[in-house]
Amino acid sequence: MDKSSALRQYFGHDSFRPGQERLVDGILAGRDVLGIMPTGGGKSICYQVPALLLPGLTLVISPLISLMKDQVAALTAAGAPAAFFNSSQTIEEYRETWNGIRNRAYRLIYVAPERLENPRFAQLMAEQNVSLLAVDEAHCISQWGQDFRPSYLKIAGFAAALRRKPIMAAFTATATAQVQEDIVTQLGLQRPVRVVTGFDRPNLFFDVQRPKDKTSALFSLIAQRSGKSGIVYCATRNAVERVWTALNDHGIPAARYHAGLPEEERRANQDDFQFDRRTVMVATNAFGMGIDKSNVSFVIHYNMPKNLESYYQEAGRAGRDGEAADCILLYSPGDVTTARYLIGHSGNDADLDAQTRDALRRMELDRLSVMTDYCKTDRCLRGAILDHFGQGHGDTCGNCGNCQGIFEETDITVPAQMILSCIKRVADKLGYHVGAGLISQVLRGGRNKRVLDLGLDQLPTYGLMRNTSQEQLRAYLDCLGGKGYVFTDPEHATLRLGPAAGNVLFRGEQVTMTAKVRPPEVKRSPKTPEPVSAAPPVEDSSLLAALKAERSRLARRDNVPAYIVFSNATLSDMAAKAPKDMTELLQVSGVGEVKAARYGEEFLAVIVGAVEKK
Ligand code: ADP
Ligand code: MG
Ligand code: ZN
Repeated sequence: MDKSSALRQYFGHDSFRPGQERLVDGILAGRDVLGIMPTGGGKSICYQVPALLLPGLTLVISPLISLMKDQVAALTAAGAPAAFFNSSQTIEEYRETWNGIRNRAYRLIYVAPERLENPRFAQLMAEQNVSLLAVDEAHCISQWGQDFRPSYLKIAGFAAALRRKPIMAAFTATATAQVQEDIVTQLGLQRPVRVVTGFDRPNLFFDVQRPKDKTSALFSLIAQRSGKSGIVYCATRNAVERVWTALNDHGIPAARYHAGLPEEERRANQDDFQFDRRTVMVATNAFGMGIDKSNVSFVIHYNMPKNLESYYQEAGRAGRDGEAADCILLYSPGDVTTARYLIGHSGNDADLDAQTRDALRRMELDRLSVMTDYCKTDRCLRGAILDHFGQGHGDTCGNCGNCQGIFEETDITVPAQMILSCIKRVADKLGYHVGAGLISQVLRGGRNKRVLDLGLDQLPTYGLMRNTSQEQLRAYLDCLGGKGYVFTDPEHATLRLGPAAGNVLFRGEQVTMTAKVRPPEVKRSPKTPEPVSAAPPVEDSSLLAALKAERSRLARRDNVPAYIVFSNATLSDMAAKAPKDMTELLQVSGVGEVKAARYGEEFLAVIVGAVEKK
């Protein structure tokens, strides 16, 4: 069998996506490879296809149990023998996998990196012919990445101890040049074939909103997407609890996930979500590294994450099936405070020396300011993301909140003068700089202890903006920050005047602010750019609905998540092509031979039924 027939027969895809083929070829030629592709770009195929063609076993290192379970279910459904080892297994399952490996029953084995440190497992693998070692989420090996997992550092040693050094293949969606270098050196990749595909996800719509009341904004965003599957990310466990309760009180079937819940409940909740029994998942970032649910149609961030890499990775869990999907961030200045707190109190660097810890923390603060800039920009949001990953792009994308938004300019020279002068006077009086919170207290005439203790109520700017809301004042401050009139010291979160401030204070320079004005009903233009796996337009939505119903039935029958039967993109293509027999069915994108054999009759019957009804 060659690579194209493996792709067709097992996965039902007609052709490789950009980058996939070069990585597959590299592996099949015995080279180490490094693949950097966005989430949903199709990294799994790059090692799964070679795994089916290489003589020996493929060992896949993957950081999360949920991902393994899913990938193995998907492979099994496609007729590719695979299994996993993890801590959630029963003794019987464990034995079965163990014996299966000894009997050469599998092509692929998935394990978490910690498993490599288990001597019995290492011994078992040393007895096998391991052809390929695939490392998923390879950025976890880098201390400079955001998901450092110390046991990833053991991979190279493990590989070297095998009977024959396997081909090494590493994959990640997020890698700055530094992280890429780390992956190559720490894994000991030998002159790897390196493929970096574009990071753009054209089917994702990006938006940042600053609602006065996040909870009610969330209600209406979810109501506009009722019945669709989505994730709501919160910064803390507390926030997850609050939002989860609010959604359920509001009649929205939501599940929750965070590290504070017992393992058993986490697993049950995740299953509820995967199997579409609950359509919304409210979670901290503990949920989903490697979540492989392809029909997630929105990701809403209730809080701003700590950095743009994390944001793009989390948001990128939407729309993996190539269908249009929404990534909406609900921003408030308080999120910055929370993020700073989390950065200052991250517990996972306990065994680092003080200097490294300090360097890491400073880097995290720099990342935070990139994230904050994203929330405040009025430029194309997709452009802002692609800039960060060093990828070129047009001025506008037409598929983000800023490209579609209507902006209004207002003159804010007078409030700008008040704010700048307040910052100056406070600094002059105290001899040091303070944060935005205190400045806003002074301007709004707050009577809190700190204001009074420092005597700031004696300043001429005290109470000048009594009638301005806190949100409005924050918006002014953000605007002044964006224009360089003030800047925030990343280390101490204090405000200082920028060099241009004098022009406003003393030379009458005019300041304008652009604010996004939303049409009353947020209506998305349907002309999203061509999705990655473009499905032809759906002619017959009643047929599609019937196919989806059949998929749910079969998923329940076989006890697998619906998208493991067929993805949305596959069903859309099936509805458009309305195949009449097996041969035609095999032409549908995403229908491989095993799945056609397993589910073909059922779906063909639905299509025949629908055509007759017409
Ligand atoms: P990643 O791991 O890069 O985030 P996955 O490997 O999970 O992405 O793939 C994402 C989706 O893309 C899956 O639904 C998969 O079926 C689909 N896909 C991958 N390769 C192809 C291809 N060559 N043609 C069509 N669809 C593909
Ligand atoms: Mg993946
Ligand atoms: Zn845009």
